[in-house]
Amino acid sequence: MDIHVGDILVMKKPHPCGDNRFLVGRVGMDFKIRCQGCGREVMVPRAKVEKNIRRVEREGRQLDRQELDRRPAPKKPDPEGERHV
Ligand SMILES: [Zn+2]
Repeated sequence: MDIHVGDILVMKKPHPCGDNRFLVGRVGMDFKIRCQGCGREVMVPRAKVEKNIRRVEREGRQLDRQELDRRPAPKKPDPEGERHV
């Protein structure tokens, strides 16, 4: 699943404070996410985060799970070269 720093994750299971929206602060083996209700930061293993995502808000767009799981469409060659490693 394709998650970026700065994305808002809308979780199936809410934080104990009742909010279910989390801002992504770091991605990797563990994600660092900040609850948008109480501001608490938590480290959660990627597998657990991905299982719990309902949708993602990115740059004002709402991405549902199907969209996130879809393989990215092949892009035209980028004159500046491949940047996404
Ligand atoms: Zn919270």
